[in-house]
Amino acid sequence: MTKKTRLGNLPPRYGFMLNPYPDLRISSCPRCERKTGQRKIPLLIHIDPLHLIALNYTCRYCKDCDLLIAHKHEIEHLLTDLFRQHDPNVIGNDYLIVGTLEKQAWREGLAQPKAIDETFPHASDFATYYQELRVTRAGWYKSDQEPPIAEPPPSREWIKAEQSR
Ligand SMILES: [Zn+2]
Repeated sequence: MTKKTRLGNLPPRYGFMLNPYPDLRISSCPRCERKTGQRKIPLLIHIDPLHLIALNYTCRYCKDCDLLIAHKHEIEHLLTDLFRQHDPNVIGNDYLIVGTLEKQAWREGLAQPKAIDETFPHASDFATYYQELRVTRAGWYKSDQEPPIAEPPPSREWIKAEQSR
């Protein structure tokens, strides 16, 4: 799924990157290599065909790059848990983490679920959407040899039911 229009009415905030490697802890920033911290923030996620949910999630955060990094397998685990209860047919659909939601709006949404168009006034799209993280495979290589890209593992939980059999 590609990003088309802006959804949030608030000014765009944060750079965003998804880490697809379950075992890779992002203790340093993939861009500037400085030490990362954490930031807990409601992420706004669009799931095909027409679901919009806010997930209060602790991202890795680089304050120098203003970059949030989310672990893909953790996000998919939380989404799977959520939809297993309400709408299991949605599990495995395409999704896109579009931006962030104000904490206050997220709290109100927990108490009283909001319509999609009530959410956008409190949402910010990401200012910069980086490609999913790729790292090279660890090991020794000859000086003229490019280390190969480590292929991230496929989704384990966020998959269509017929594929998991
Ligand atoms: Zn950085």
